[in-house]
Amino acid sequence: MARAWLSLGANIGDPAAQLVQAIKRLDAHAGISVTRQSSVILTAPWGNTDQPDFANMAAEVETDLEPVDLLHVCLDIERDMGRVRHEVWGPRLIDIDIIAYERVEMHTGRLTLPHPFAHEREFVLGPLREIAPETADWIVGIRN
Ligand code: AMP
Repeated sequence: MARAWLSLGANIGDPAAQLVQAIKRLDAHAGISVTRQSSVILTAPWGNTDQPDFANMAAEVETDLEPVDLLHVCLDIERDMGRVRHEVWGPRLIDIDIIAYERVEMHTGRLTLPHPFAHEREFVLGPLREIAPETADWIVGIRN
């Protein structure tokens, strides 16, 4: 079993409900148990500021999946939740990133660990500090 930390965000539809739904779907996977959840924080959008506020949270999982397989589960959940019934593809309603997987450092075309921007985003680090302060410190330490 490995421990990993995920960042979840949503800003259209019912963001808080989508975070709950994403956590349920992660936990329902045979290879994933959600072991800790941060509180949900509301964050003003960055980059394109002409969009609704984000709801963000972090979760700790125990998993027997390898990092890239965990990524695929996250992407599958994003895709399934973003699909609007009776339409071909609807807007994406949830973003799930892997912040860190144990103390693995890797950089491939598919996956960078720890997440390349985690250390500079307070909406990622804040919730992570709540549930895994030593992991937040490790990320900040290796990226600076
Ligand atoms: P985005 O939708 O902007 O979150 O980007 C998702 C894409 O970023 C995925 O298809 C991954 O291949 C890539 N990626 C690289 N590193 C990570 C990571 N640590 N967590 C999630 N996605 C990642």
